[in-house]
Amino acid sequence: MVLPSLEQSFIIMGYAVLAILLAILVLAAVMIIVAIISMRRGRFYMPWLLKPGLIILEGLAKILWRAGRIDDHDIIAFSIRLHNQLNRERFSGLPMEDRMIFLPQCLRSMDCPSNLTIEGLVCKRCKRCDIGKSIDELESYGCKVFIVPGSTFVKRLVKKYRPQGIVGVGCIMEVKEGLEMTDRLDLPAMGVITSKDGCVETIVDWPTLIDVATMRPLKKV
Ligand code: SF4
Repeated sequence: MVLPSLEQSFIIMGYAVLAILLAILVLAAVMIIVAIISMRRGRFYMPWLLKPGLIILEGLAKILWRAGRIDDHDIIAFSIRLHNQLNRERFSGLPMEDRMIFLPQCLRSMDCPSNLTIEGLVCKRCKRCDIGKSIDELESYGCKVFIVPGSTFVKRLVKKYRPQGIVGVGCIMEVKEGLEMTDRLDLPAMGVITSKDGCVETIVDWPTLIDVATMRPLKKV
């Protein structure tokens, strides 16, 4: 058998690297096109490609998306929507009692009289904000609801109560990090982004949160 010379080996390696780079570029381009069409039409096409594609090619995608004048915020918001879409089927099939809802403490009124405990803040239903009323509604479905000051509380409560599914409310970065954590735990989670960011008196669309937290499987036609 004739072995390739050193020069031929370099050429073969060069072609191999070029082929891999081309494959990555083609995959990134397909993923971005599918993602843009999905965003524009408000429904997800080929989610099996988008999720791993976004993770593996996140860096490359960011460069290309920036070239297309789509900023990081849009990419993250898109990946959260995608996450929700991919988790929807598993989450919606869960019994309500196995769903845990985490609210950020910044949703409270500045004059909130709640007490901090090992399980987060305990709402006193003082009616200075909408949390008390919404907790009552969510609990009437059977969900467990917690107002937490940070992810340490989330981890502790998940360990203690072992929910089968989670809904996390927060600013875009909190939701992104929360979904990454639940992915590592293999828990289907839904993220709901606050409509007003900040550290105090933030806002969430409560009807949307309640719809997400109590969603049922879609009826097959
Ligand atoms: S309703 Fe609950 S969370 Fe809202 S301000 Fe009153 S005690 Fe705090």
